[in-house]
Amino acid sequence: MTTAQEPLDPALRVEALASLLAERGLIDEGTVSKFIATYEQSVGPMNGAKVVAKAWTDPEYRERLLADGTAAIGELGFKGPQGEHIVVLENTPQVHHVVVCTLCSCYPWPVLGLPPSWYKDPAYRSRVVREPRQVLREFGLELGESVEILVHDSSSEVRYLVLPERPAGTGGLTEEELAGLVTRDAMVGVAVVSAP
Ligand code: FE
Repeated sequence: MTTAQEPLDPALRVEALASLLAERGLIDEGTVSKFIATYEQSVGPMNGAKVVAKAWTDPEYRERLLADGTAAIGELGFKGPQGEHIVVLENTPQVHHVVVCTLCSCYPWPVLGLPPSWYKDPAYRSRVVREPRQVLREFGLELGESVEILVHDSSSEVRYLVLPERPAGTGGLTEEELAGLVTRDAMVGVAVVSAP
């Protein structure tokens, strides 16, 4: 038996919402499909990975990226909704950045795509602020006690992208090969990038 509180199948919910929005003239029939195709095929963490690999191999680009994330990311053609103001945070052996949106799920769409479900989970959103070291440990990331962890709260004004440390032993890799090592989680700060 279905009650009003019971969550429906997500596909049904999407269909219901899409037809309501179309009925009210807020979107046209193809909008939702176009949106899904875009975020399935052309916008996702592979964009952020290209930004990171370029920053690792081009010191001048890295400087521009840290000075004005939005502009430097735009140089690679990555722009769009939820990417109007992106700040890039560089991890170092001393400082590890991790990103959250305590209020909802603000996330830099043009470089990371849509947020994973754990990012929207109230437990992640509250706990990573209070006990970041423990939360990172649960993600499998054990940081030394000497590493300072800085938690950044995203908002509708500012979205963050973590520039992970380039792993040792990757000196011979091309920019494209380096991009292949960079994961979504490393760019949110709940993981680090490992050498192949
Ligand atoms: Fe948010």
